[in-house]
Amino acid sequence: MGYDEFYRLSVEEPERFWGEQARLIHWETPPQQILDATKLPFRQWFVGGTTNLCYNAVDRHLAERGEQLALVAISTETGVTEEISYRVLYREVNRFAGILKGLGVGRGDRVVIYMPNMAEAVYAMLACARIGAIHSVVFGGFAAHNLALRIDDAEPKLLICADAGMRGGKVIPYKPLVDAALAEAKAPPPHVLIVSRGLDKDMQRVAGRDVDYARLRAEHMNDEVPVAWLESNEPSYLLYTSGTTGKPKGIQRDVGGYAVAMAMSTRLVFDIGPGQVMFSTSDVGWAVGHSYNVYGPLIVGATSLLYEGLPTNPDPGIWWRLCEKYRVRTMFSSPTGIRLLKKQDVSWLKKADLSSLKWLFLAGEPLDEPTAHWITDGLGVPVIDNYWQTETGWPVLTLMPGLELKPVKWGSPGLPAPGYRMKVINEATGEEAAAGEKGVLVMVPPLPPGCLTTVWRDDDRYVNSYFSHFRELLYSSLDWAIRDADGYTNILGRTDDVINVAGHRLGTREIEESVATYSAVAEAAVIGMKDELKGQVPVVFATLKQGAAASSEEAARGMQQAVTEQLGPIARPARIYVVNALPKTRSGKLLRRSLQALVQHTDPGDLSTLDDPASLDEVRKALERGPDLGS
Ligand code: AMP
Repeated sequence: MGYDEFYRLSVEEPERFWGEQARLIHWETPPQQILDATKLPFRQWFVGGTTNLCYNAVDRHLAERGEQLALVAISTETGVTEEISYRVLYREVNRFAGILKGLGVGRGDRVVIYMPNMAEAVYAMLACARIGAIHSVVFGGFAAHNLALRIDDAEPKLLICADAGMRGGKVIPYKPLVDAALAEAKAPPPHVLIVSRGLDKDMQRVAGRDVDYARLRAEHMNDEVPVAWLESNEPSYLLYTSGTTGKPKGIQRDVGGYAVAMAMSTRLVFDIGPGQVMFSTSDVGWAVGHSYNVYGPLIVGATSLLYEGLPTNPDPGIWWRLCEKYRVRTMFSSPTGIRLLKKQDVSWLKKADLSSLKWLFLAGEPLDEPTAHWITDGLGVPVIDNYWQTETGWPVLTLMPGLELKPVKWGSPGLPAPGYRMKVINEATGEEAAAGEKGVLVMVPPLPPGCLTTVWRDDDRYVNSYFSHFRELLYSSLDWAIRDADGYTNILGRTDDVINVAGHRLGTREIEESVATYSAVAEAAVIGMKDELKGQVPVVFATLKQGAAASSEEAARGMQQAVTEQLGPIARPARIYVVNALPKTRSGKLLRRSLQALVQHTDPGDLSTLDDPASLDEVRKALERGPDLGS
């Protein structure tokens, strides 16, 4: 069956279609009903079926491929590579699950995982899945305040952390950040399980609270922990993402729907089946890491490469040598990753034998044409741009070479993936936009399997954030889009105050709140400015309190330090301007879009709601003068 027929079936006969896809995974009890869409926008897939993500990712493969590599954890930072077969993975996950149980973690309990790309992070996730605990992995680049916010929302029974991560040869201790987060959190867990690689020699332990993984592992060497069979719609994991408020949203995923979406998409989108090798360069803390470093490749019985390190260390040929060594078939990275390599000599792409490599997938941010051309020509393999969100868990717009490769159109992530009923809506009229007309990209519910089921403990936020933008009940992606006559869609950027830095989504509101914690600041506005390498970078405009003692430069340094300490280096402002006034509407809303337009020399749009026109002149003057920090 070709793409057109496959897609048509998925949207016209979803129950038949997904009923068939459900056979790709093991069900302990088969579903009684494929879809319950009686309470839209909520929906339940595979109702009454019981299954388990860990069983599907590990146990199920033991008989046929126990000795095959399941995971290769490569660190060019520590110099250690671990080649882990399905049998070894099974043993390690059972030990880890034994440790979790010993620490009182059970079905439905939350476990926060704060670790870099290392094998134990994967063991921890799978061990949670095995016993029905809900994991919430927090990206290691986030700092204490971000971690504390997530802890307070998830209320975990346990936090698992590494002693440290490494970047460019520099040790980045995690434990002090954990200690600071737990001091700030209102709901700190009773225990912290520390997986130490001996990187942080000065690590402090809190007696009674902190426990050591290596010691407990030795006690649980022979544990066999039974799989908890979960109803398909029970929560499997939470993944926090930024929105327009300062409070991150806990994207909640189910069990059965996610497993089926992973089994189908890994095969048909990423063209990876049993015994084949996939290399995703994502961090486990992101949606791509969850889906295509851990669950997707393992559920289909493939080998997954997990990489800790820079793409240029020890040299810019490292990724391609790994492709050669492990016979990688599908590689998955981000446009920023490729733009980093583009600064290096193109000959690095030619040094390794890439005869096994069939596809390079790129996602997370817009793929610019020069980068797409550079890497396509350099590697000589098709580059497939795919569009999705933390919320969806797997591609929404893509091409599906595992099924049928439709032509690549530069600048577009392609066509809807199975099950996604997409429309582009004209924001003013609420009607569907014509081909070639800009609008908001939406999905008609029910959302397909794998997409979020709700926002953790906040059904209202799920409805209000995503389904309350139009007259009709539609999921808003909060992205602008334009669709051509063949159905290929181009993404034109966010409709909300979210920016995308190196493929990482950041809420401008979160950064503003952090800037405002610096004592001299009266108010701050943050926007995203175009950047050659990272796509966008945060830029701050701030007013100071009357009588603030700090000079503009001192204040700017203080603001930057506050953001880096509280949110982490990814949110670090590239430029800070201290101004006398910020542009606002008469009702007091910050006009971030006008600010952005001034910075990028584009049309500032409708200024009729502007309260004080002099505020824009203030900003213009500041731009002419140059930033108080940054260049
Ligand atoms: P995240 O949830 O962090 O993965 O961010 C999702 C957002 O990243 C989307 O809403 C888009 O704004 C952007 N995005 C992801 N993939 C693409 C892509 N292929 N092209 C353009 N923008 C993308």
